[in-house]
Amino acid sequence: MPTHLTSHFTLEELLTSQTAIRFRYDEQFSPSEQVVSHLIALCENILEPLRVALKQPIRVSSGYRCRRVNVKIGGAKKSQHLDGEAADIQVLSMEVEDLLQFIKASDLPYDQLIQEFDSWIHVSFSKRNRGEALRATKLANGHTKYTPA
Ligand SMILES: [Zn+2]
Repeated sequence: MPTHLTSHFTLEELLTSQTAIRFRYDEQFSPSEQVVSHLIALCENILEPLRVALKQPIRVSSGYRCRRVNVKIGGAKKSQHLDGEAADIQVLSMEVEDLLQFIKASDLPYDQLIQEFDSWIHVSFSKRNRGEALRATKLANGHTKYTPA
């Protein structure tokens, strides 16, 4: 498997998962070829061009998730993280909302762009890029509400 997916992103950081380490979900770290090809597409089309445009490091808090990790952290059943099509990112020197606006204003071909809880940006890339931008907020009952961003 390739160690670098693009010049600034490694396979290792797109597989990162404290949950997988803690619960010994070893499959998290040996994804299928299809997942790796999706991660490469995500990096080539979104993360790397964004890194270059921002001239700042992008921290990936979650990329690919194996099924057990996704269940454990309460991810959506059909989360694009399961297919290696999504990443949760932060740029340390930037407010999350500013990062959302920056990506929206760019011509990056994202599928979904979600500003989640003022904490990170979820961005996905797939074959059918919807260009959908949302903002996720937690309601008092614990449910997540999505509104157009
Ligand atoms: Zn996400």
